[in-house]
Amino acid sequence: KVTEHIDNAKGKTLFSIEIIPPSKGSNSIGDLLSGIEPMMELNPPFIDVTYHREEYLIKDMPDGGQKEVRTRKRPGTVGICSAIMHKFDVDAVPHVLCGGFNKEDTEDLLFDLSYLGIDNVMALRGDIAKPFNVFKPKKGGHQYASQLISQIKDINAGKYLYEELESETHPDFCIGGAAYPEKHYEAQSMDIDFENLKRKVDAGMDYIVTQMFFNNQKYFDFVNKCRANGINIPIIPGLKVLATKRQLEILPELFFCDMPEDLRKGVAAAKDNAGAREVGVEWCVQQCKELKEYGVPALHFYTMSKSNTTLAVAKEVF
Ligand code: FAD
Repeated sequence: KVTEHIDNAKGKTLFSIEIIPPSKGSNSIGDLLSGIEPMMELNPPFIDVTYHREEYLIKDMPDGGQKEVRTRKRPGTVGICSAIMHKFDVDAVPHVLCGGFNKEDTEDLLFDLSYLGIDNVMALRGDIAKPFNVFKPKKGGHQYASQLISQIKDINAGKYLYEELESETHPDFCIGGAAYPEKHYEAQSMDIDFENLKRKVDAGMDYIVTQMFFNNQKYFDFVNKCRANGINIPIIPGLKVLATKRQLEILPELFFCDMPEDLRKGVAAAKDNAGAREVGVEWCVQQCKELKEYGVPALHFYTMSKSNTTLAVAKEVF
């Protein structure tokens, strides 16, 4: 379990990563595994594998009707988790979503994960599917991650949708969840978002992974607020190494994170992407050193399934 890895490290900061299943027809599982293999030299005790929904334009409807956009889940998360556990002997943390799943689908997925020997899940609402501008759960599914966490806790207690078993042999997942030191973009205020985070903790979340941030003070303030309000579970900082000039604009748009002025200036002054990457790596090295000094449980890198930039940073820090 992620929390056991943290406890066993006895205050030493762990190195961990998040990877993304390839979209169909792009990389093979072999490419994915060889892409991340160089990072294994840093011994990540766990690897997160994201889950996604994609939309498709169906041009020829079988019933001859109008073309329409449909969203469906991107396959790969479960299979990739199993593959990395076998190839690298590390724990896999599949992301499980509210979006696209009803409660029965969720229960079935969790049993499949448990049969594969997976003991950790990251419970998330999921991004809004592109054709919509508000989150729409599948009929019979969850609206919020806190409800998904409650369902996982029920399964951990042997309480399933249509039966309650006394047996001791039921899954026992360690449950991670997301938090946003700079506020989730839909929340009206930091305080409302924080109240909603507390619902997830009360529902049984075991640890937090934060959205990416480029200003450590945002993380420190967030941790202080959590501790002052009785949230005492591990808070793992999520980190992204800025690697291109375009990411200076795109990352704040996609992830609603502030770009410090010095980082902006450094990247703007770089003459090309290679120069921007150098600035991004150096920035992240400094962030990581400070976070490590502060005693964070792990430095968790959003790698996009590529090793280069993450390794460039991690080798300076670990
Ligand atoms: P929630 O905790 O449910 O919060 C969503 C919004 O609802 C927030 O604004 C919150 O304040 C509000 N809210 C919560 N509870 C209530 C309530 N009871 N009443 C009213 N408002 C409420 N997306 C993917 O699609 N796939 C992934 O694999 C993935 N991995 C991620 C990993 C991390 C570490 C992070 C930080 C994000 C990830 N995301 C992923 C993105 C995530 O799905 C989105 O940010 C999503 O918009 C919110 O998910 P959540 O689990 O934080 O939602």
